[in-house]
Amino acid sequence: MKQQIIIIGAGASGLVAGISAAREGASVTIMEHTARPGKKLLSTGNGKCNITNLQFPKGAYRGNQPDFVFPALNAVPVNQTMDFFKDLGIVLTERNGYVYPNSGQATTVLEALLFELEHLGVRIMTECRVKEIKEDLTVVTDNGKHRCDRVILAAGSMAAPKTGSDGSGYSLVRKLGHHIIEPLPALVQLRCKEKWYKQAAGVRIDALVTLKIDGKAAASDRGELQITDYGISGIPVFQISRYAARALKEGKQAVAQLDFLPEFSDDDLEKLLFARQDRFGYRPAEDFLHGVLNSKLAKILLKEAGIDRVTWVKEITVQEIKNLIGCIKELKTKIVSTNTFDQAQVCSGGVDTREVDPVTMESRLIRGLYFSGEILDVDGICGGYNLQWAWSSGITAGINAGRG
Ligand SMILES: Cc1cc2nc3c(=O)[nH]c(=O)nc-3n(C[C@H](O)[C@H](O)[C@H](O)COP(=O)(O)OP(=O)(O)OC[C@H]3O[C@@H](n4cnc5c(N)ncnc54)[C@H](O)[C@@H]3O)c2cc1C
Repeated sequence: MKQQIIIIGAGASGLVAGISAAREGASVTIMEHTARPGKKLLSTGNGKCNITNLQFPKGAYRGNQPDFVFPALNAVPVNQTMDFFKDLGIVLTERNGYVYPNSGQATTVLEALLFELEHLGVRIMTECRVKEIKEDLTVVTDNGKHRCDRVILAAGSMAAPKTGSDGSGYSLVRKLGHHIIEPLPALVQLRCKEKWYKQAAGVRIDALVTLKIDGKAAASDRGELQITDYGISGIPVFQISRYAARALKEGKQAVAQLDFLPEFSDDDLEKLLFARQDRFGYRPAEDFLHGVLNSKLAKILLKEAGIDRVTWVKEITVQEIKNLIGCIKELKTKIVSTNTFDQAQVCSGGVDTREVDPVTMESRLIRGLYFSGEILDVDGICGGYNLQWAWSSGITAGINAGRG
């Protein structure tokens, strides 16, 4: 007798779980509550789908148990994932470790998965909302009850709910006794308190961003910082945002410290600024950083350092130059909130991974119930790591559920 498997969620992890379970010989049905599968996958990598990454930096995965990811990532590592897609006809290309389909279109990745599912005889039921999973693995949907041998819950998180991941997966398993680490937005923009943001909106600059929680450095990242009219955005901000969200939730103080000239040591910068004062003493003080930093940003930094009160560069005091170095290298900005789940690429939090076997992805509480993807308390950094988790956990869950 074939194993009857129901997969809840036709996102990245649910689709590869379906292929893997069917290849094990199982009879598979995927239930998806939106009108079409893989909506979120289509928006990944700005529509180009950053499938995975050849680099594996320390701390690429976060969660209450960051080591939870390793058995699945070792069972289905990056090279094997790439072979999986190549076997489906996707030619891959790589830039600085970031891997994309050569077509430059996420839609081709989705279509390749759907072709294979169809070929394997997997049934996809769209507009089918799962309302309950019973302990005996009866799946209750808005169009009837379905009994099966195994369930894989691949319902995603609460990030980007317009794509279908509305958090309903959490309530399905909460009823079965699983604990949910509170989901919070991650890989998301940070809203800040200072008034100068409106003036600086639109500036993009290479910067080192350090998150300080209650005064202690908690995370940092360097890359293109984007200043918006409400705060900070860009990859380095996304990378630290999950820690800021958690700190704010716990009532802690979260401050981002911005270094706008990370290539310069304080000494280098001091030499540069004193030399500029000697050379350009005749210039208006507001032009002191002309050619050094973006002019909108320079204006704000000069004001923060108190230099806006003088007329000429030659009038700037030694103390004011030291203040300016502090502002350029360590400008502090108070984080008041993150943007909402609508703008977040992923969530931190999710199903408590202590309740899931990391080797098989099976629940430790309910036999025959498996998990995959972002519904678990696993969040990766930007750069293909979240999809890699969806592929590795989805394939692992599919194989183990399908084997019977
Ligand atoms: C804008 C954006 C860009 C991104 N870019 C990248 C990138 O380039 N690289 C990368 O690695 N990661 C990226 N990510 C993150 C990545 O897309 C996700 O981590 C990944 O898609 C998660 O896969 P999943 O299968 O766990 O969940 P999802 O893809 O969210 O799939 C869950 C599915 O379950 C369905 N569902 C939910 N509840 C129910 C229910 N009760 N009944 C039936 N169906 C249900 C949903 O409709 C959805 O289709 C991006 C995310 C966003 C929002």
